[in-house]
Amino acid sequence: MEIRSDEIISVIKQQIKKYENKAKMTDIGTITSVGDGIATIYGLDDCMTGELLEAPGGVLAMAMNLEENAVGAVLFGYNENIKEGCLIKRTNKIVSVPVGEALLGRVVNGLGVPIDGKGKIEASEYRNIESVAPGIIDRQPVRQPLQTGIKAVDVMIPIGKGQRELIIGDRQTGKSSIAIDTIINQKDKNVICIYVAIGQKQSTIAEIVKTLEDNDAMKYTIIVASTASDLTPLQYIAPYTGCSMGEYFMYQGKDVLCVYDDLSKHAVAYRALSLLLKRPPGREAYPGDIFYLHSRLLERATKLSDKLGAGSLTALPIVETQAGDVSDYIPTNIISITDGQIFLESELFYSGVRPAINPGISVSRVGGNAQIKAIKKMAGSLKLAYSQYMELQAFAQFSSDLDKDTKLQLEKGKRIVEILKQPKNSPMKIEHQVVIIYLAVNNFLLDIDINKICDFQYDFINYINNNYKQIFESISNTGDLTKETENLLIESIEKFKKLFL
Ligand code: ATP
Ligand code: MG
Repeated sequence: MEIRSDEIISVIKQQIKKYENKAKMTDIGTITSVGDGIATIYGLDDCMTGELLEAPGGVLAMAMNLEENAVGAVLFGYNENIKEGCLIKRTNKIVSVPVGEALLGRVVNGLGVPIDGKGKIEASEYRNIESVAPGIIDRQPVRQPLQTGIKAVDVMIPIGKGQRELIIGDRQTGKSSIAIDTIINQKDKNVICIYVAIGQKQSTIAEIVKTLEDNDAMKYTIIVASTASDLTPLQYIAPYTGCSMGEYFMYQGKDVLCVYDDLSKHAVAYRALSLLLKRPPGREAYPGDIFYLHSRLLERATKLSDKLGAGSLTALPIVETQAGDVSDYIPTNIISITDGQIFLESELFYSGVRPAINPGISVSRVGGNAQIKAIKKMAGSLKLAYSQYMELQAFAQFSSDLDKDTKLQLEKGKRIVEILKQPKNSPMKIEHQVVIIYLAVNNFLLDIDINKICDFQYDFINYINNNYKQIFESISNTGDLTKETENLLIESIEKFKKLFL
């Protein structure tokens, strides 16, 4: 075929004539209004939801509302140069945070930026703060215990690796203390801990960091802190940030513990954000997706299947109630998402029962699966004796002469309450717990004066450590209280009582 050059030229000419210089405003937008930490932007046509944007002065923002003609974004910082008419750039990245070993021992904000003055973090990787929770096939049942070191929890409301256990109670009832004790108890247990503080005072966070440092727990802990003075968007993303940092380790096959302290403040931060973004308010002015806010976070806690490395992420969310009302909107939502709750009561707290756990309405839906055998054997009888005591106590106040059986049950109950008391920041090893619970359940404490129970237990542990070390060794090696060890234990109790009394 013959090629005619004039024909080709005419085609090219036509093409050039048709060419329009249509520069699309897709990567740069203009701020049309800004206020209360919210910016409305015109022109970011291809913007993704959750995308990180860069405003003047290096301030970062996150796109949250994608509307027909505008994008609503929340700002992660202040800058006086951000005003109407400013340009704002896309980064083409979903909000992500640094993850990896370099973060251990550090205090960071919601965006993973260090705030402890210890210098830059050389992160190995970045991870999106939002990610889809593992599916059913990727999971396996919760079976291994994650010990808190708190007798009342480990015996009556056991927590397993990969479980989500809610800590709920009024203000100042020791909620945070339970979570901190659990972190302290993970020392030398190969569990990485992440403590997310949402909307707390800076002084409280400083105190927590100090407690963890004093107990040598910071080396395996990351603190994600968004204080009450931080902007609400930072408070909103903090738990997702913490969860992403945990997921990184989980997918490496490690065990992770995430504490979210607390989700009521998180819900309030999200409500503020949603109202400012003009999303429609629902019950108590919370937006319609308030349930999804927490369910997508807590669903990311899991025990992975062996195929995926069998890592785990255990979540301990904390929720504050008003006057012990668990039927409030946010508490009921979170109760229905989690696998159980530890309920703390101010009445118990003020009457000196600390930790102020109410075993009546506290549950762990994973239960005995997450306990070592020795504890599992005794948990039932302890709970029974405890609840019988609670019932009898109310009734015994009215009658003076009680029969022998009732008196015995009351005395036993009093001693159980006494041994379940535990000062904060002093988690107890599981083998020590086994021995102490054994004493209470099998009536070995009845002849000990109620005021001396506390001293008695610590002295007895010391005594065994010095004279019958094989008892602790056997329990921690086998996880069980064998017949042989039990006999040895009974022998040691009898000898020790002679010394103590
Ligand atoms: P907030 O509502 O302010 O977050 P919280 O419920 O997290 O409070 P904590 O801060 O853990 O409670 O504890 C409240 C107070 O009770 C603290 O002063 C703490 O020292 C004390 N406390 C907590 N647990 C115990 C315990 N087991 N024994 C003695 N004191 C305790
Ligand atoms: Mg607290």
